Amino acid sequence: MPKPPRFYGNEAAQKSLRRMIKSGRIPHGFLFYGESGLGKKTLAEQLMAEMLCIGAEKPCGYCKSCRMMANQVHPDVCYVQHGGKRGGFLAETVRAVCNNIALPPNEGNKKFYLFSDCDAMDARMQNLLLKAIEEPPDYVYFIFTAGSPGALLPTVRSRIVSMAVTPVLEIQCREALLEKGYSEQECGEAIAAFHGNIGKCLEFLENAVIREIIALTKSAINSIIERNEYALLQTVNAFEKEREQARLFLTLFDRTLRDAMVHRYDPQAACIGCDPDGANALASRLSVRSGQAMHLAVDKAYAALQANVNLPLILAAFCASCMDA
Ligand SMILES: [Zn+2]
Repeated sequence: MPKPPRFYGNEAAQKSLRRMIKSGRIPHGFLFYGESGLGKKTLAEQLMAEMLCIGAEKPCGYCKSCRMMANQVHPDVCYVQHGGKRGGFLAETVRAVCNNIALPPNEGNKKFYLFSDCDAMDARMQNLLLKAIEEPPDYVYFIFTAGSPGALLPTVRSRIVSMAVTPVLEIQCREALLEKGYSEQECGEAIAAFHGNIGKCLEFLENAVIREIIALTKSAINSIIERNEYALLQTVNAFEKEREQARLFLTLFDRTLRDAMVHRYDPQAACIGCDPDGANALASRLSVRSGQAMHLAVDKAYAALQANVNLPLILAAFCASCMDA
């Protein structure tokens, strides 16, 4: 029997959603936003399952609706397909949604359209949808997910309810990973790298490449501690052909930098990065100015990555700026 989706943490958001469902005054549009891996889609699925369930305790996990939901074949739930090069939505897809909302639900009295990862959804597509979001039929609900609230136009946002999804407590993350069958040790390693981000922890456990990037990040931090430019260059050269990996490396590197800056003032502060030991060692060697300069080097490299600049050039410039700092 497939289990109903379970969304961990974020108690305040869950509570206010329950309150809306209980009162029967449910907004017809939602935006769940927050970094990837935090479970925005799981929250959306839990909300839909709860609203569609015909069992006693919602979502019951047993009724016809819950079973169709768990198998992602519920006829009244539309996972709107992405299209185009940048991972947005195509005009024909959005138009089809606008036409489709006129058709009443197949099963119950509600119908959902889930637009996930809307960060690359362009303004034209959002404007196409605007009227549908403004005056949807009673049975229609829209759910959007995105990295940041700014992904959606203010005109769209003003007509829906936006909710931030945040990392969970590490103890909740451990519970979620243990439930998936991972050992205590595996959970510990994943949480040390990605803290309360359940999705990222799962990626860490399932994907050797992610573990490798963490190891390389630690080695880059160590090269900076030892002021070894050659070692740093060799480490980052591992990303020479992999833009996605370079992006994750820069994010993780920047978080450790942030941890080091915080540890200068409060050695007991909680880490957000993947290398607490490195952050501690770096903290005693890093001035505020050099920390900021390195953070700027990360920003610059990140922007160059987005602008499709040649990757080895970006990495070489990044190393040089870090060493100068
Ligand atoms: Zn049910």
